[in-house]
Amino acid sequence: MRRAVRPRRAPRLTFPPSGTDSVPQLERRLQIVCLDLEGVLVPEIWIEFSRQTGIPELSRTTRDEPDYERLMRGRMDILDRQGLGLADIQKVIAQMRPFDGAREFLDWLRGFCQVVILSDTYYEFAAPLMRQLGYPTLFCHELLVDERGRVRDYRLRMRDQKRESVKAFRALQFDTVAVGDSYNDTTMLTEAHAGILYRPPANVIAEFPQFPVAQNYDELRAQITAAIRLG
Ligand SMILES: [Mg+2]
Repeated sequence: MRRAVRPRRAPRLTFPPSGTDSVPQLERRLQIVCLDLEGVLVPEIWIEFSRQTGIPELSRTTRDEPDYERLMRGRMDILDRQGLGLADIQKVIAQMRPFDGAREFLDWLRGFCQVVILSDTYYEFAAPLMRQLGYPTLFCHELLVDERGRVRDYRLRMRDQKRESVKAFRALQFDTVAVGDSYNDTTMLTEAHAGILYRPPANVIAEFPQFPVAQNYDELRAQITAAIRLG
């Protein structure tokens, strides 16, 4: 009986070749830092809008309300009752500026690793702020506005897009660092190789003591650098 001929296996290539001193550099993984927008690089849009319109109920944000759906429904009801539309919100946003040092921090970060902003805001709101930040990559959501400019609904790109994005970046072989300040960031902070809270409210610190906290951009620079070195 003839023995079955085994297909010849291609020799297994090892990369990098053993015995070279370039191993540490070649083993270095690609890094991506995922940043929340509001509360990290720019002020909270809804708080600013609440201040400008004198409607205190609009100052609730993801820092106070873990249920995003409930938060947005509440906001749309108030806008409707007050007869306010997208143009009114955009007028306020046009006057807003990123936090002092935000642009410099972002430029520094983008100089040595990939950076994506993962936000639960809307493209319709973010444009003037993105211009001031040098147009970084932004993943966020979309508002549905009727012909009279009233906000009728919103379209989430997907549920928990921050976490799903970090998961996808990991699948793309990135080492991931996530930075955020609120409840809606905690799933991406958990999913990332390293999660950092940036100037979070006391309730978020108390509920998520596992994450280190940075209180200014210098501390954040140090935390990100340390996370990337350890990664
Ligand atoms: Mg935030």
